[in-house]
Amino acid sequence: MLKRHIYKILLILCCLCLSSCGFGSGSSGQADTEADQARKREFFAMDTYMTFAAYGAEADKALQAAEEEIHKLEGEWSVTDENSEIYKINHSQGEPVTLSQDTARILDFTLEMARQTGGALDPTIYPIMTAWGFTTDENRIPSREEIAALLKNVGYEQVVLNGNQIRLPAGVELDLGAVGKGYAGDLAAEILKDQGITSALLDIGGTIQAIGSRPDGTDWRLGIRNPFGEGQVGVLSVSDRAVVTSGDYERYFVGDDGQVYGHIIDPSTGYPADTGLASVTIIAEEGKVGDALSTAMFVKGPDQAEEYWRNHRDFDMLMITGDGQIWITEGVRDSFTLNDSFANMELHVITFS
Ligand code: AMP
Ligand code: MG
Repeated sequence: MLKRHIYKILLILCCLCLSSCGFGSGSSGQADTEADQARKREFFAMDTYMTFAAYGAEADKALQAAEEEIHKLEGEWSVTDENSEIYKINHSQGEPVTLSQDTARILDFTLEMARQTGGALDPTIYPIMTAWGFTTDENRIPSREEIAALLKNVGYEQVVLNGNQIRLPAGVELDLGAVGKGYAGDLAAEILKDQGITSALLDIGGTIQAIGSRPDGTDWRLGIRNPFGEGQVGVLSVSDRAVVTSGDYERYFVGDDGQVYGHIIDPSTGYPADTGLASVTIIAEEGKVGDALSTAMFVKGPDQAEEYWRNHRDFDMLMITGDGQIWITEGVRDSFTLNDSFANMELHVITFS
């Protein structure tokens, strides 16, 4: 309940932020025509509040279809809903399970990203999430022995996916928390585009999908959240991109030992990733890639993330380190502006050379 109230407050703050960043009708100062008016849908799904906004005569119908798609995917991918496919897989006791096309595809994609990131992203992390209490919000610090025992059940290589058939050894459990929202955003965006929408902004609990540009042809202006407290460190201008942020601040607890434990786990240790990053934002063409990479780069930490970017270069990245430095990749150097109140943060550009 408390969590939902917090989300509600965050949603309101987020809406305020979007309008202050130039998102929303009337912010351009021009008279609103029908086409300039953003149509909006706000709803709770996938454990977060979502705000979908679109422009155009067909916007209402298209947004409704996009929201329905999100609820459908939630029904398939939820770890806790007893009717979901992921729940069925996690309780299959080693027996094969036949999957819907959506679920087979997201799993195929996630396993591929797990391979590409050397296991920094690992969808089999769920038993560890449970041990830390992140699945119930009754957080605890598991013993080293408990983590060591559970790590035997962690490892994406143990997942056998053949077309739409999956088999997991008993004890191995899946969690799509790191990619589901980004992937769902891509599918929702597809629906909007199929219905003729060329300008829309989907906020999927902080995972942003920008479709086209604003109706007046200018970039969307997205606030990058301050991971240390209130406000936004700066503004990123984008068109036709997914912008996805991962950070400890989204879900964490303070243990009896006074230490902060975040919800992004390093699959190689079973402990919350602690690589000196406060947040990582990925700017990519597809939400699923942005979501997978934001989690994986958070696990890898600044140096390995930079190396990964150099080897791939098909995305951009903005990292905020725990000591308040910002590192951005070359492709977004001209699209990011620090807000005045954060002007003292050190801003570094990671270049190709
Ligand atoms: P995100 O907010 O996209 O970074 O996803 C974080 C969520 O993904 C967590 O709340 C867990 O449900 C799950 N998760 C945590 N660590 C990992 C990991 N290393 N690989 C895959 N999923 C993870
Ligand atoms: Mg993610």
